[in-house]
Amino acid sequence: MAGMQESHPPDISPLEQLRAIVGASGWITDPELMAPYLREWRGLFAGSAAAVVSPACTGEVARVMAVCHAARIGVVPQSGNTGLCGGAAPDQSGAQIILSLRRMNRIRSLDAANDTLVAEAGCILADVQAAARQADRLFPLSLAAEGSCMLGGNLATNAGGTNVLRYGNTRDLVLGLEVVLPDGRVWDGLSALRKDNAGYELRHLFIGSEGTLGVITAAVLRLFPQPREQATALLGMGSAEDALTVYTALRRESGDSVSGCELISAQAMDFVQAHIPDSRNPLQQPYPWYLLVELSSARVDSGLRLLLEQTLARLLDSGVVADAVVAESLAQAGALWRLRESIPEAQRLEGASIKNDISVPVSSVPAFVHEAGEVVAQVCPGVRVCAFGHLGDGNLHFNLQQPVTMNSGEFLARWDELCRHVDDVVLRYAGSVAAEHGIGQLRIGELQRSKQAVALELMRTIKAGLDPHGIMNPGKVLGKR
Ligand code: FAD
Ligand code: ZN
Repeated sequence: MAGMQESHPPDISPLEQLRAIVGASGWITDPELMAPYLREWRGLFAGSAAAVVSPACTGEVARVMAVCHAARIGVVPQSGNTGLCGGAAPDQSGAQIILSLRRMNRIRSLDAANDTLVAEAGCILADVQAAARQADRLFPLSLAAEGSCMLGGNLATNAGGTNVLRYGNTRDLVLGLEVVLPDGRVWDGLSALRKDNAGYELRHLFIGSEGTLGVITAAVLRLFPQPREQATALLGMGSAEDALTVYTALRRESGDSVSGCELISAQAMDFVQAHIPDSRNPLQQPYPWYLLVELSSARVDSGLRLLLEQTLARLLDSGVVADAVVAESLAQAGALWRLRESIPEAQRLEGASIKNDISVPVSSVPAFVHEAGEVVAQVCPGVRVCAFGHLGDGNLHFNLQQPVTMNSGEFLARWDELCRHVDDVVLRYAGSVAAEHGIGQLRIGELQRSKQAVALELMRTIKAGLDPHGIMNPGKVLGKR
């Protein structure tokens, strides 16, 4: 489709042109109103910008990009601003604009027979889930930030979350995309097809590209049957090896019904109990490791609960599981999930932490945990390892909390050094140093160190081909040119 270039009298500055495109309701320059867009929630990344520009439709996004392309203005796409790697924060120059998708929040259509829904990038994830639920369908992407993160950010980071084991990452939940390219052309790839091998699969270029290749404005999402039965349990055990044994047993016994399998270290559980009101470990005593498991089925008479109880009874008998509690109600299941989902907030309240977002083959998780734990204890005595995450995906948030005797600044100054030590172990297990949250500005060095030179060259070739002036989210993912 052709770009929608507007001709403007040459005496109007590019910023005035942008303002004219989006109108007063899409234009923010007041420092106080801009502030929430300029920094992320933990205060780790902050910048300044010439304006926050919020187009109301794809045509406006296209016109905004055409002006920025012509004037070489850096554009930082932003959806819910909940990302954890500084990808949505502008630089310090004050010359970039933030392109906020917040006004593009319509569910455009839902095709129940095709099990698809078309939503705009500024839809809050919880609203997309609700639209699917209204049609008695499930949109399975689920993460703790779902009340404020938006579809555009989910797509741009290929978000994971707690349902990946069963339904895949965001990438697996998308059939088509609409994208505005850096020069203002619109790629209407809103295909709702499940099979289409006609040429390269362009959507996968933009999913996970963190705003560096184009602006995602809408997507065709896959829907699934609603789960009719769920069985949720919290288990206590002595080792990460035991947790892996449980996971394997549950998969074997229940086929693909395991929809969640979250590992929680004793340290993570302790932080939650210390900082999160009304959080209670329902097991009789503390254990070195916990596993939160959930089975779900779209059938009402699935017998899942019985199956879970029988499998757990066998694992308790053999001593693999030391203690277990099965949720008796949705409220109890919710309380168990809250324990898991409160960990990042509990860590924030406990003080400074260095985040590692790694993956290794599922079978290597226990060995990784031991080795990486030993390495960090050696180089930073007293460091508290707060490991938790998606065991079934081999993805752990192997976070390091400051030693009680060290101040925050001193600890955070060791970010690169400690991540490097953890990454070395990750790479020995052929893992990834950025499994779920992406690269943004936080992990540029780690990407450079961990990827093969050929892979980095390919990425730079794609970037240069799509964004020759380097205006799309400059400096993110691949670093400065
Ligand atoms: P933003 O923060 O606004 O943007 C993220 C990146 O995408 C930036 O690089 C931005 O430039 C780019 N971007 C945004 N919109 C567009 C667009 N329309 N077009 C092109 N580029 C765009 N993440 C997980 O994967 N799994 C989790 O389980 C998870 N749990 C979290 C829990 C908490 C409490 C928090 C705060 C965050 C969590 N995250 C998790 C991280 C974050 O919520 C996700 O990455 C989310 O998908 C980001 O969406 P957002 O709308 O906030 O994106
Ligand atoms: Zn996660």
